[in-house]
Amino acid sequence: MVEKIFFDLIKQREDEIKSLRKKGRKVIGYLCSRFPVELAYALDLIPIRVFVTDSSYESLGTVFIWERMCPYAKLITGNFLAEDSFYSQNIDVLSGTVICQVVHRMLDVLSAYTKKPTLMLIYPLLRPPEKDQLELFTSEVQWLKKELEKLSQTHLTEQKLKEAIELYDKVRKELIDVYESYLEERLNITYKDFIKLVLLSQFLDPFEFLNFVKEVKKEAGSSSIKKGDNKVKILISGSIILPENEVILDLVEKCGGKIVADDTCSGLRSFYGIEVKEVSISAIAKAYLHAIPCGATQCLDLGKDERLNFLTDIIKKYDIHGVIYQTLRYCDPFSFKVNETQKFLQKVKSVAFLPIHMDVSSSEIQRLQTRIEAFIESISFKLGG
Ligand code: SF4
Repeated sequence: MVEKIFFDLIKQREDEIKSLRKKGRKVIGYLCSRFPVELAYALDLIPIRVFVTDSSYESLGTVFIWERMCPYAKLITGNFLAEDSFYSQNIDVLSGTVICQVVHRMLDVLSAYTKKPTLMLIYPLLRPPEKDQLELFTSEVQWLKKELEKLSQTHLTEQKLKEAIELYDKVRKELIDVYESYLEERLNITYKDFIKLVLLSQFLDPFEFLNFVKEVKKEAGSSSIKKGDNKVKILISGSIILPENEVILDLVEKCGGKIVADDTCSGLRSFYGIEVKEVSISAIAKAYLHAIPCGATQCLDLGKDERLNFLTDIIKKYDIHGVIYQTLRYCDPFSFKVNETQKFLQKVKSVAFLPIHMDVSSSEIQRLQTRIEAFIESISFKLGG
């Protein structure tokens, strides 16, 4: 269901945004899921996460972004620079949390070529964050608040912030509920549907999103669910999910695996564990800083690495059998961590590990299918299936 109407919902939202802009509302487009949406929403701005579902924009992106940079950067940049770009025509201000330096580069390029104001938030990279890093990030969020106040020409009130925090808390709780319902086979959706829902939660108006989730639960909860066919439980780790590597999600299910979790910034990692506990700027900064980090952050003591610890916990919690660690070509933050992640996870639990380094061409699919099939079959064999 979600996949079927995903593009209609995006189109409807785009039309809605266009008419809201005519009435004077401003749109803030953000890159990276560590952007504190609550702030923008509380100031009556429209926050939307920038994502692209059409890989054909990548070639245009290479005109401005070095060819040997991640496809995500090229896709986004290419889309902004295309004549028909919804983002270019409707985003008033660009923002992003600079965790991966590629996001920094993208924002620089977009700012130079689109001439849009750009608000870059510096995110401390050393993990786990100490007190001074929290202070630094709090001052960044404080600065963002002032900039957004200027943009919206309103002052942030405690009441508005409280309402926004509660609303986004509800959105995240709904996503967790959908995820758990999928795991417990109470909802007839695929993991790809779930990833699409996560994207919609960052693009639709939060109230519209909550209504849509109600419909999904109603429809997918009542349709018949094939129980327990896929015994091999898989976790997807690594780079962001783009149109190119999304195919991995289909292939796992086609080959008889069940995706039980992911730690990509398109899925669980974009909302899991983000909990704003008080109505204040420092509480917002704390929630985003202490969320599960991206591979671009650095931790000198692997035992304290929150990304690895999250993976370990989730592998144990759901008794996951195999990890598919997929990296997009030139996504260095995740590519450089393949061996480290594999070694760490294997010390904790004997889990099968399949590294996949994606080329963006579709000619890869047959080769990928063979590898994923063999991976799932070998786990199934060990499980006695
Ligand atoms: S983490 Fe990887 S995919 Fe994401 S922006 Fe950085 S290089 Fe690109």
